[in-house]
Amino acid sequence: MEVAVPARFTGSFTQQEAIPADAIAAAVSVLQSGRLHRYNLAQDEEGEVARLEAEYRDWQGSAYCLAVTSGGQALQIALRACGLRPGEAVLTNGFTLAPVPGAISAVGGTVILVEIDEALRLDLDDLAAKIASSGARVLLLSHMRGHLCDMDRLMRICDGAGVTVIEDCAHTMGARWNGKRSGNFGKVACFSTQTYKHMNSGEGGFLTTGDAKIAARATILSGSYMMYARHGAGPAPDAFAEARYQMPNCSARMDALRAAILRPQLAQLDRNVERWNARYRAVEAGLKGYPHLTSIPLPAAELHVGSSIQFRIPDFTADQCRAFLDSAKARGVELKWFGAPEPVGFTSAHPSWRYVTPQDLPRTDRILATLFDMRLPLSFTKADCALIAELICDAVSEVAP
Ligand SMILES: *Cc1c(COP(=O)(O)O)cnc(C)c1O
Repeated sequence: MEVAVPARFTGSFTQQEAIPADAIAAAVSVLQSGRLHRYNLAQDEEGEVARLEAEYRDWQGSAYCLAVTSGGQALQIALRACGLRPGEAVLTNGFTLAPVPGAISAVGGTVILVEIDEALRLDLDDLAAKIASSGARVLLLSHMRGHLCDMDRLMRICDGAGVTVIEDCAHTMGARWNGKRSGNFGKVACFSTQTYKHMNSGEGGFLTTGDAKIAARATILSGSYMMYARHGAGPAPDAFAEARYQMPNCSARMDALRAAILRPQLAQLDRNVERWNARYRAVEAGLKGYPHLTSIPLPAAELHVGSSIQFRIPDFTADQCRAFLDSAKARGVELKWFGAPEPVGFTSAHPSWRYVTPQDLPRTDRILATLFDMRLPLSFTKADCALIAELICDAVSEVAP
């Protein structure tokens, strides 16, 4: 039988899988209890949030874990817990998403952007140069789209210069560098459980650290009042001696409902990492070697989580990039282009962050000018992914026959 190859993909790039049945049951049980606030506990009840914190700490292999209201709040709390003062310089990637420079600005920091390289990782030579020129003591390192830089070299540079590293692991929950989990290199790590990340509670996040003092400060900052003894993965009470008086309450707590739907998802996370990677490999195989397309290399030391995929078309002009986007869209393939002059949807480039002093990033700009990005939700099958790759190649050849 002849099977016609469809010329159009009809799936949705923003459609997640359903919340697992056991997570729905846990959510219903919380709703029936009426105890949604994390500190609203019955006698001897541990609570969903405290249990989630303990489980995430164990899975991540960190000493402490705090659940919060979003990944962006985790970033802000991390910066404050590390002692950032208003006006202080904070280094971060020139290529990341808006919550990252947003968090630095929200806590009164001055954003210093660092160049990226062709593999979308932080340019470590530029980092070293900007540490020296800015005198910054903090790096908010964004593992943008799951691409880890050489973490051993990065930590040598930062440790050598006395720079505190905060890892933004919004895209690397589950990733590893030389076997070590992303998030366990710096002083603090921040994760997101927003719908488009690796676990889905609508909004939500975690902060992990090995430092008891930072964990205590972060807990008070998150809005724990004096209820910190009810946390599942926090430090001993003596760590709070100063924090309980010094840290302002920023009301960024996670609630029991979201924790209830995350716990069963955490149990599935390792399996889902493999499912994402199978989809990533299917797209990558379909794009590999196609004229004009340059894929992003994954270093051997990196265990990547392929929840999205990026590629470049270095010889395309801006007009060709625009035509390619349209051509892919006509085939049902939704791509994001980081070279667009105006911010679109979730995507913006550094010149659009006008609350940040404009900075010259010629290398980053050149890379972003022809960089494309695509989500790979688990609702896609591997066959969908193969088809999508084929359609991307068709769209390229339509623009550059
Ligand atoms: C989503 C995201 C965040 C923030 O997460 P929210 O939970 O949405 O606040 C931070 N950094 C990056 C790179 C992200 O993509």
